[in-house]
Amino acid sequence: MRIGVLALQGAFIEHAAVIRRLGEEASEIRLPGELDKIDGLIIPGGESTTITNLIRSFNLLQPLKERIRGGMPVLGTCAGMICLAKRVSNSDTSHMETLALMDVEVKRNAFGRQVDSFEIDLPVPVLGEEPFHAVFIRAPLIKSTGPGVDILAKLPDGTIVASRQKNMLVTSFHPELTEDPRLHKYFLSIVASSGK
Ligand code: GLN
Repeated sequence: MRIGVLALQGAFIEHAAVIRRLGEEASEIRLPGELDKIDGLIIPGGESTTITNLIRSFNLLQPLKERIRGGMPVLGTCAGMICLAKRVSNSDTSHMETLALMDVEVKRNAFGRQVDSFEIDLPVPVLGEEPFHAVFIRAPLIKSTGPGVDILAKLPDGTIVASRQKNMLVTSFHPELTEDPRLHKYFLSIVASSGK
């Protein structure tokens, strides 16, 4: 399988390393034509305003929307999740134009100052019984989900931090920053079954 990692800004190198460690091909994506060569895409964490602006500057907006609407699996982590969301709430982002593909409302920088970065062992049932060590860095949360969206993980207080809508998988946290490859493996299984 050939996995592309959107390499405009943010933690793309770390995601590509995990994919390669799992024995699959990973390539950095910056040009629209490069999308033709991949079976799945990862949109990394970073700064969502920068990434969405660069998506436009690099003429990737329509090509990305078409591929993802056409069923190409996509994993969006942290800022990558914001890029995929249909609705983004937070005062300074009222004008933020995302890819607007996934039926979720996300809130940027959603955790208060003291906990704006934290780590927690999180139950994620689709990954098995063992909790997933989740790293949150100035993370967004999922405020609400539409009818076609499955909730995959919640914090102890009920905050939604991972979900899936068909070919789109998103997490508030950074699975590429831990040694546990289960989230990427789960994404690869979505890619594998989408090709059949
Ligand atoms: N705070 C960033 C944003 O709103 C996301 C942080 C991250 O991706 N680690 O875009």
